[in-house]
Amino acid sequence: MKKTILTGLRINSDFTLGNYLGALLPMVRLANKHSNEFNVNIFVPDLHSIISKIDGDLQKNLIYSIKCYLASGLILNENVHFYRQSYVPAHSELTWVLNCIATTGEMGRMIQFKEKSSGRESTNVGIFDYPVLMASDILLYSASYVPVGEDQFQHIELTRNLAERFNNRFGETFVVPENTKGQVEFMGADAGVRIRDLVNPEKKMSKSTESEKSKILLSDAPNVAAKKIMSATTDSFEDIEFDFETRPGISNLIQILALINNISVGEVLETWRGKTKYGDFKKAVAESVEKLLSSFQEKISEISDDEVLDLFPAGEKYANDVANAKLQEVFEKVGLR
Ligand code: ATP
Ligand code: MG
Repeated sequence: MKKTILTGLRINSDFTLGNYLGALLPMVRLANKHSNEFNVNIFVPDLHSIISKIDGDLQKNLIYSIKCYLASGLILNENVHFYRQSYVPAHSELTWVLNCIATTGEMGRMIQFKEKSSGRESTNVGIFDYPVLMASDILLYSASYVPVGEDQFQHIELTRNLAERFNNRFGETFVVPENTKGQVEFMGADAGVRIRDLVNPEKKMSKSTESEKSKILLSDAPNVAAKKIMSATTDSFEDIEFDFETRPGISNLIQILALINNISVGEVLETWRGKTKYGDFKKAVAESVEKLLSSFQEKISEISDDEVLDLFPAGEKYANDVANAKLQEVFEKVGLR
């Protein structure tokens, strides 16, 4: 059986440079490398998106999100499938079944849940439960590889646990996705990517952060994005060094420069290690970001909405066929059929 690589990006707002470097670009690179031998499933997690406030219009965001893959150089072929999550009802149905084997204890330990609910007395249940929906997204398609940023690794582990628990209880049903070490190796990286907030580099860059200076959006004017890099928080050490523990700000910029140019951190350091002029270094990073956004935005403007919408019918037929077959198997195993 052909293996499957799967990804989805929430469309509650525009994407950040963190989403791009941590999830979008790795997926495009993997897809282009493997789509001759693997299924590449790119779905729009519209159901995940409504767990938080929607900036803009969901339908517009949806089309834009697919344009982002295309503008990042994704090559299409018959193994690359695009579908909208809410057009494949099996995602919601499997979620219910998995809800009945997931525990409130393990769900309460999810860091993303703790972060998204911290300081609030109560949140919507979707914020608590979306990792189970994410497990369904993955398990319905027997996906082995799910390129995500480091912040989502815990949800991959949860998915593995739920799959194993189900298999143990009801008999072999789900393919258990690769563990996070295997995921990282498959991406050809040493570790997961976590782009930091530009103002507060202890935290990850997030689309939902209010502060505009903290994040770079893919739709930011390129010169504005460059300014955000120039004013990014660094440190008071005297030379450039890579260490996320003690110097998260400068390390973040090193990482950004490496990922944009598809080179290793080591290669960036060969040029910059020990240099004392942070301003010169920031300028190099700012120029890279500016160039990236200019060319990305130009490519986006060349893709029509229809080009995107035309991708869904075939993709959603494929997705429903695969997902319904797996759901049927699940229903039989638990006695619903
Ligand atoms: P939100 O703040 O609304 O949760 P987000 O920026 O965290 O938004 P998500 O939609 O939750 O974005 O995540 C989409 C993908 O981007 C996931 O694969 C996630 O791991 C990845 N990602 C998010 N933030 C970063 C980051 N700072 N660095 C690397 N990858 C990231
Ligand atoms: Mg997130």
